[in-house]
Amino acid sequence: MKRRDFLTTSALVATSLTVKGCHRTEKKNKNSSINASTVNKVTLKLATSWPAHFPIMGTGVDNFAKRCFELSGGSLEIKIYPKNILVPALQVFDATSAAQIDAFHSGVYYWKGKNPAFSIFGGMPLGLTSEEMITWMKFGGGYELWRELYDKFNLYPLIGGTTGPQMGGWFKTPINTLDDLKGLKMRIPGLGGEVMKKLGVNPVLLPAGEIYTSLERGTIDATEWVGPALDSMMGFSKAADYYYTGWHEPGSILEITFNKARWEKLSDVHKAIITSASEEMTGNMLQEFRYKNAKALKELPKNVQIKTFPNDMMDEAKVALSEVLREESKKSEDFKRVLKSYESFYRLNKMYDDISTRNFLNIRS
Ligand code: CA
Repeated sequence: MKRRDFLTTSALVATSLTVKGCHRTEKKNKNSSINASTVNKVTLKLATSWPAHFPIMGTGVDNFAKRCFELSGGSLEIKIYPKNILVPALQVFDATSAAQIDAFHSGVYYWKGKNPAFSIFGGMPLGLTSEEMITWMKFGGGYELWRELYDKFNLYPLIGGTTGPQMGGWFKTPINTLDDLKGLKMRIPGLGGEVMKKLGVNPVLLPAGEIYTSLERGTIDATEWVGPALDSMMGFSKAADYYYTGWHEPGSILEITFNKARWEKLSDVHKAIITSASEEMTGNMLQEFRYKNAKALKELPKNVQIKTFPNDMMDEAKVALSEVLREESKKSEDFKRVLKSYESFYRLNKMYDDISTRNFLNIRS
């Protein structure tokens, strides 16, 4: 028996054993007949918004494809196309919607031009952490809303990783009061950028490849990116000394999204494998970010000063965020509906989080 045949057979035996406990699934599978002779090999094309094997995000999706192959005994092959190979980085949503490719891996907040509500799924300034965000998605109604809104684009989304809390960014001059922000040019996208605009910042969008040079030459005064691990790779510490703690992206999630018609044509087994592999990827990415950020933070060069934004700025940011959310809700019924669900979970979770995690961390410190 060839190795691949062996893997196929054992994976299928394991699968049929697993589903036997579920009457409904078992009945259905009599028709879709899970046995080696009828499982066809499926190949899917997945494009990403990252360069090939980009640390953590890119390697995360590489591993996802590898796991789908392993778990399916080789019957499910997902071919990864890094940015600009099949489609430009920020056209993966449209290309998947139009069935030019089968799936993509990217960040949800990139698509707020399609529907303002998508920025909430990407992450909210001063909002839910990664763990809270995933809890809202899975148990608090987030996934249902996300899938309903993506359905209009013929898309089926899954969470495809999360960054954990991001840092507030690199500044060439210290921010001691709210006034120090006025007129600064900062690379900061999404709802965080909208809030900064109300605080007097001029938010700009730059492709990843242009951020370092712009900061170094002073074309911009500040930039946010992700956290110590990826920020160190970008070399920001050579262009700015002040590294601020985060507030604007406490739990941004990434997505693995499929063309809906293509997704529906997949077998129940392949759907289950993809779903499991995406959950595994999400957990792994969060843990990898935590470990590598912790390590990179200790290794930052001596010139870097870690700072926290002043209280008057954060007070004003809270006011500005309320305004931004009110304005977006007025413009978009979908934004209003998603925000309602998000805030309902936020309130439910807050009291518990305060007496559990927050209280414990205070005691531990
Ligand atoms: Ca960021």
